[in-house]
Amino acid sequence: MHCIECQQQEANKGSGLCDPCERVFLKQINGFLYLPAAGLTINLGLLLLGVLGIIASMIGVWPYANRINWFDVGYMALTILHFVITVCASWCFFKKKKHTRILMIAYYLAGMISVLYYYGIPVCFYDAKMDSKDISFATTSVIAAVIWIPYFLKSERINEVFCR
Ligand SMILES: [Zn+2]
Repeated sequence: MHCIECQQQEANKGSGLCDPCERVFLKQINGFLYLPAAGLTINLGLLLLGVLGIIASMIGVWPYANRINWFDVGYMALTILHFVITVCASWCFFKKKKHTRILMIAYYLAGMISVLYYYGIPVCFYDAKMDSKDISFATTSVIAAVIWIPYFLKSERINEVFCR
């Protein structure tokens, strides 16, 4: 049987692809990796809105700067940092760069730290209540970090796809 991709070389039994085509296939972002790809894209959009919101409130609130408290300042700084990390991680991920692994881990950590800060501090110190939307949003970020950080640390696939 010939390779289903190039139709020229002898195919391997399992995949139906020849060795060179198999190598190309392994380097593509597919299967499992569509999930972090989708997550990065969604987060880029959300964080961009967040950063624009911060800029808008800075311009709007500036004459009343005494109304901004330390919690707000911390959250703004975290959001901007999270945005910068997400931009770098997306760039490396979609360009399949070598530093993808470390940047993706930073991206998941930043996401988790942001939600722990934004929801954790008001809940622990100011008796704030989380509604179900808050809880699902916060849990998603923590679960994503718990699943994907070990994956990006350990997976062989990551070495094959992002080794340039
Ligand atoms: Zn082939």
